[in-house]
Amino acid sequence: MELDIKLIDDNGKRLDGRSAEELRKIKIEAGVLHRADGSCYLEWGGNKVLAAVYGPREAIPRHTQNPLRAIVNARYNMAAFSVEDRKRPGPDRRSREISKVISEALEKIILTEQFPRSAIDVNIEVLDAEAGTRCAGLTAAGVALADAGIPMNDIPVACAAGKIAGQIVIDLGKEEDNFGDADLPVAISPRTDEILLLQMDGHLTVEEFNKALDLAIKGCHVASEIQKKAILDKYQSVKEAE
Ligand code: UDP
Repeated sequence: MELDIKLIDDNGKRLDGRSAEELRKIKIEAGVLHRADGSCYLEWGGNKVLAAVYGPREAIPRHTQNPLRAIVNARYNMAAFSVEDRKRPGPDRRSREISKVISEALEKIILTEQFPRSAIDVNIEVLDAEAGTRCAGLTAAGVALADAGIPMNDIPVACAAGKIAGQIVIDLGKEEDNFGDADLPVAISPRTDEILLLQMDGHLTVEEFNKALDLAIKGCHVASEIQKKAILDKYQSVKEAE
């Protein structure tokens, strides 16, 4: 696409003033909803996301039950008012794809074999979107799952890296996503760096791919620390209230 905005200026700064390896600001709060078993509110740059976890509970309808393990149903949804042009409410191809890849990522880290015939429902609602919502949603889901006390090997976390103006950078913003060359969202288990989700939109050479992957994993570790702090803060305030 012909581009008349400069994604990186002469000083190496991006449109929002960030350097190549700088994340947008992340704010996380655990346990924000009363009815859910676990929940999280997360802001990541201009993204605002709510995650609510229900379960493990009996999987209904019964034909969906797996006698050996729990099924994980992540449902990603973008509010109609979350984007510039009003989005038609309800599931579409994109939200089905994101729900599927997030469900599969979470299944890898939740100890599902402890809950045969059960379902764990993970609702992710995007209230405000500014690129990187699948990473923001998965990161919020990780905190909500921990808040619900769901047994997991680790708290899953996600971050993207990509290529803009010929450079590999972390955590693409809206214009960077629209006018950049590639986007690589990655989710990991931060304890082992096992990859739980990896998608790529655009083209990267092998060398660029490796650099972007390293950078995305670095970003995951930064977000992971903020997740842990949010969970600790919630339990600290519960303890103080007792
Ligand atoms: N977007 C939009 N309308 C839509 C879907 C997406 O405006 O119907 C915007 C939104 O800001 C989103 C961005 O495009 O965050 C990038 O979408 P993508 O499919 O790359 O997923 P994401 O980066 O949010 O995980």
